[in-house]
Amino acid sequence: MSEEKGLNFIEEIIEADLQSGKHTSIATRFPPEPNGYLHLGHAKSICLNFGLALKYGGKTNLRFDDTNPITEDTEYVESIKADVRWLGFNWSEELYASDYFEQLYGFAEKLIEKGLAYVDDSTSEQIAEEKGTPTQAGKSNQYRQRSPEENLMLFRGMRAGKFKDHEKVLRVKGDLASPNMLMRDPVIYRIKHAHHHRTGDAWCIYPMYDFAHGQSDSIEKITHSICTLEFVPHRELYDWLIKHLEIFPSRQYEFARLNVTYTVMSKRKLLQLVQEKFVNGWDDPRMPTISAMRRRGFTPESIRDFCDKIGVARRENLIDVGLLEFCVREHLNRIASRRMVVFDPIRVVVQNWNGPDTEMLSGENNPENPDVGHRNIPFSKEIFIEREDFMEEPPKKYFRLSPGQMVRLKHAYIVKCTGFKKDDAGNVTEVHVEYIKESRSGSDTSGLQVKGVIHWVSAAHALNAEVRLYDRLFRVEDPSTIEGDFREHLNPDSLRIQKVMAEPSLAGAQPGEKFQFLRMGYFTPDPDSTPGSPVFNRTVTLRDAWAKEQKKQ
Ligand code: ATP
Ligand code: MG
Repeated sequence: MSEEKGLNFIEEIIEADLQSGKHTSIATRFPPEPNGYLHLGHAKSICLNFGLALKYGGKTNLRFDDTNPITEDTEYVESIKADVRWLGFNWSEELYASDYFEQLYGFAEKLIEKGLAYVDDSTSEQIAEEKGTPTQAGKSNQYRQRSPEENLMLFRGMRAGKFKDHEKVLRVKGDLASPNMLMRDPVIYRIKHAHHHRTGDAWCIYPMYDFAHGQSDSIEKITHSICTLEFVPHRELYDWLIKHLEIFPSRQYEFARLNVTYTVMSKRKLLQLVQEKFVNGWDDPRMPTISAMRRRGFTPESIRDFCDKIGVARRENLIDVGLLEFCVREHLNRIASRRMVVFDPIRVVVQNWNGPDTEMLSGENNPENPDVGHRNIPFSKEIFIEREDFMEEPPKKYFRLSPGQMVRLKHAYIVKCTGFKKDDAGNVTEVHVEYIKESRSGSDTSGLQVKGVIHWVSAAHALNAEVRLYDRLFRVEDPSTIEGDFREHLNPDSLRIQKVMAEPSLAGAQPGEKFQFLRMGYFTPDPDSTPGSPVFNRTVTLRDAWAKEQKKQ
């Protein structure tokens, strides 16, 4: 973990810029390409960009980087907006790089007029070949000598649709000997007769990333344009274009991408998992997408806390998913309502029960927060407990039920095991207990001390429910860097579905609500729930079961 209390390197830059008077306020942007759903890596970028503007009293734009007509879609635009809002951020303006197509086109003509761009008829193979290698300068070709007038005429022809895809491109007249390959006459416009999700068929030429991103930053007067490390080589071109176009001097700063163990963080790979049905859609709770984490029961607070804790790194690293789960547990512990749910039931008969058919007991919703009150829990002569909470021949220090032993039923009574029944195969089918009337929780005058407390549900009132228990999506820590196909490392046991018995107060639970099922973990209702048949996703276990498992091996 880095930067506990001090400033991160971007904050240092911003504070220096504000102090020197270079800027009087700051502007950042979050620039997603609408070609997939946002993932945890994007959450990091969102928290960073919006967080900086909040901290320094600036603004953040949401800018869709939609210059590639082929892969983009409005479905993605809508999901991105919903995800940013859910994370808790409000953008200053919603903008689209495609809104700047006319302006960008004007910038291109300006470069041509200055003799700084030319139309090239070469194929992409020829262009690649003439680029040289990092140790060998590139070669000029006959098109590079075209006059500004000819270039202008050809470029206008490109816009007017006079040429087919790939027939011509517009290139910057850079430096063919530059050690930075990106400065060797980069392509800034290509012909693509394709329908765009916003501009329709208005354009058949589209600007490349490098001729859209920095220019859009500049148009919006973004002061600090923050991106990930793979854009370091692009910075020279970013600055070169701003200088020669004589536009607002936005500056680019790079930080390390967020990588997290046991998952992949690339839209392309996530799309593959969806399309090839390794998961049930973008919001399958095993996915690292924001929509999946929301469905699984993660809270925006815990994701923001996680992004804060990992800090802003300048070198690639791999963050332990355990840290994210730690943040989630910490928040859910504060806000989740406690409930009792029996996963693997065994029937218990309270043989000396002489109370009413149903006795209403009361259980606090959250011991961490008395303000959220209590719920009613029905108790009756027959209840279910977890099969593993009874043992015929218990080992030492087993404080749950076994013949002659006492245990407390949470929020109810102390019971003593008086016997049990077995079937022909030797399986225990029923446990018999006697309850201690004076031991009722809240008004216990029995004076008895018992070590074990177990959860239970009344048999007559139990609600049948389904739980979905998730494990790591991949079996290996870093599926992206491992040799071979990343899909070979998927965890075949990443989803387990179980039928359970829940306390009746869970009947009307709605997606978005947060629960702790005592001893079983944190859960949230899934939208697949139907009236009378609730489905719950396990957000996270109570303790880090995975780390324990790893230590055993
Ligand atoms: P992917 O490789 O998953 O497709 P991307 O970088 O192409 O991601 P964009 O939509 O272009 O996705 O990203 C929007 C913003 O989010 C960019 O500024 C990008 O740098 C940032 N971003 C993307 N992935 C990460 C990550 N893993 N960690 C931090 N920031 C990220
Ligand atoms: Mg991208």
